[in-house]
Amino acid sequence: MSHSTRCAACKSLRRRCPRDCILAPYFPSNDPQRFSSVHKIFGASNISKILQQLPVQERAKAADCMSFEATSRIQDPVYGCVRIISQLQQQLLITQRELVMTQAQLAFYYAQQQ
Ligand SMILES: [Zn+2]
Repeated sequence: MSHSTRCAACKSLRRRCPRDCILAPYFPSNDPQRFSSVHKIFGASNISKILQQLPVQERAKAADCMSFEATSRIQDPVYGCVRIISQLQQQLLITQRELVMTQAQLAFYYAQQQ
């Protein structure tokens, strides 16, 4: 048994898309680029293996993560998503320092008022 339309993965791999295709829910036929990126970085059989090892309710999140990582790796072959994570950690550090400074200033002004 197969769907009337193949998922992006089966279409790309030029194979029949079975009704219980593990990739179909996460790689719909209307978004071939999503599968193409993930396939290029992880490989189709690894994607299937990763999804099979997970409980069904966590597979969509895993597919989204693989898609994000693959897209990042294609855009930035050296650092991939690590560059984005580092930038966010840096911003978090700067914001935490600003918060500490602001809290210290507030404490100073409150002390002066009394
Ligand atoms: Zn399929």
